[in-house]
Amino acid sequence: MLNILSVDVEDYHDQLALDFQDRIVPPDEEAVRCTDRLLELFGELGVHGTFFILGEIAEYFPDLVRRIAGQGHHLGVHGYYHHLVFRQTADEFRHSIEAARKRIEDATGVAADAYRATAFSINESTPWALGILADLGFRYDSSVYPFKGRRYGDPTAPRAPYKRHLPDGRWLWEVPMSTVIKWGRRWPVCGGGYLRLMPRWITDRAVTSLNAEGIGAVIYLHPYETELAPQISPLSGLSWRQRAHFHFFNFHQQVGRAHTLSKLRYLLGKYRFGTIRDAISEAEAGLSDTRE
Ligand SMILES: [Zn+2]
Repeated sequence: MLNILSVDVEDYHDQLALDFQDRIVPPDEEAVRCTDRLLELFGELGVHGTFFILGEIAEYFPDLVRRIAGQGHHLGVHGYYHHLVFRQTADEFRHSIEAARKRIEDATGVAADAYRATAFSINESTPWALGILADLGFRYDSSVYPFKGRRYGDPTAPRAPYKRHLPDGRWLWEVPMSTVIKWGRRWPVCGGGYLRLMPRWITDRAVTSLNAEGIGAVIYLHPYETELAPQISPLSGLSWRQRAHFHFFNFHQQVGRAHTLSKLRYLLGKYRFGTIRDAISEAEAGLSDTRE
């Protein structure tokens, strides 16, 4: 059973500016430092992952993107800026994905054929999104969280990778985030805040139980989750309510960061992990179970 390692390559600080002030600012060097930290760990352990990269990261830090490709990781696109898909028109979405992919491919000379939506923001209001990905030649989408979340998620979606058919007959591989079933409902595990905030033994058990079901676990994380002392500048012009949210958000985002690398080292050492492309190839070759 090959589990999936995935990284969403983005900068924390420019996301704060975008989320709280709707302002685009250049990504901080912190993104480079943090991504290199992950590359070092993955290189040491000999593990490959799928890296979903923002176009603006490839624009400002093409050397970093070259290092990712140079280590043999699988390249994917995470949008140009960290805009939510359901806030874009179909044309804006198409152009942003094309531009981001061009930046990544120009920097590396390697095809980027996987996509993950920012904050899992493909939903019923974006029926055009997957068709556009198929038009652009993407083979893998990893934008579905098959549980009922507060801001995202689809509790009716399959929990294991599947061929997602479009009305016109085309299809892409859909690689959903990991959930486990407990107390009659699905619970998110193995990624982002869920990976960072849960004790290691819970994530460990979740991977074991997913594998027992014949499902590869999908770990996803952000490079900034390895930064222990980020220099966060206060944003100007926020109301007191926004300021309170800003402080709470920053506090919450930093809890558990001290354990990110050791938790990863443990999981990557204990289980087999690889890229989305490798996991799907193994499944297609019948070496492990998958569901359509
Ligand atoms: Zn993201």
